[in-house]
Amino acid sequence: MNVLVFSLKRSKKNDPTFLGIVFCSANYMNKEEDFDANLAGEDGETEETKRSWFKRIKKGILTPTKDKADAPEGLWTKCPTCKYTCTINEIRENYFVCPKCQYHHRIGSSEYFEILFDDNRFTELFANIVSKDYLGFVDLKPYDKRLEETYAKTDIHDSITVAHGKVDENDLVVACMDFEFIGGSLGSVMGEKISRACDYCIKHRIPFMIINKSGGARMMESAFSLMQLAKTSGKLSQLTDNKIPYISLCTDPTFGGTTASFAMLGDIICGEPGALIGFAGPRVIKETIKRDLPEGFQRSEFLLEHGFLDFIVHRKELKQKMASVLVLFKQ
Ligand SMILES: [Zn+2]
Repeated sequence: MNVLVFSLKRSKKNDPTFLGIVFCSANYMNKEEDFDANLAGEDGETEETKRSWFKRIKKGILTPTKDKADAPEGLWTKCPTCKYTCTINEIRENYFVCPKCQYHHRIGSSEYFEILFDDNRFTELFANIVSKDYLGFVDLKPYDKRLEETYAKTDIHDSITVAHGKVDENDLVVACMDFEFIGGSLGSVMGEKISRACDYCIKHRIPFMIINKSGGARMMESAFSLMQLAKTSGKLSQLTDNKIPYISLCTDPTFGGTTASFAMLGDIICGEPGALIGFAGPRVIKETIKRDLPEGFQRSEFLLEHGFLDFIVHRKELKQKMASVLVLFKQ
């Protein structure tokens, strides 16, 4: 631009029609010089001018979600409590517990089986029982369609998986819930699997353990879901009659129908650190009793203090703790 201005000055110096242009160009040149001064870090302009060449014309992020370049999924994870970010491998090696704040990430049945069973060897039981929409229930979508979609995106058979394996060479049948399967909801399949697991344990004289992770009853099965509370409670009492130990581990979250039945019926009831365990959610309770709830309400530490839990077990110590409990029961 400077070159152009100088050439105009030289050739049309005395032509009055070009005086204006020269004047304007000269003005521009001043700005150019200031601009250069700004680049060199020299002051000489107002704050506004200095900022102007960084000015955002349109506000906000305008890239549509579908065009965003995401990092590949499943490589990194962020702790919801302390925001510590680490790789999935790092957290897996640490039993899916945040290395910084010990937050216990929600994991599924296959991870619990891997933690508990020797060499990750176990036999899955009753995998052939599947949910059915016998009421033709429709909420946001038909129940049978919801089931189809859930089967398609998970490789589990229902919200609970039962497996028989060895924990430090002690036989144990574990029924573990998966929250990703319709919120780990208690439906007729869960009831039936727990019931058959009780029969299996009685027949083979093996202790039984349930790892709870559920939002409550499966609404799409209506009263059939509620009947499972009585059914499972009845079956667990048969374990007691046959002197078979039953351990209940409450993880985050254990709510509704599960807490109202088998989760609170264990010979030993334990919880993971910081797990939310209750019947109704804190918001419902607060609105009902019209009072503020104490700090840490419904967390496992609070429940331990009030006698609902026997102990809290860190996931790192889960296997060793269960093994020693099983040895004690054998005595
Ligand atoms: Zn954390």
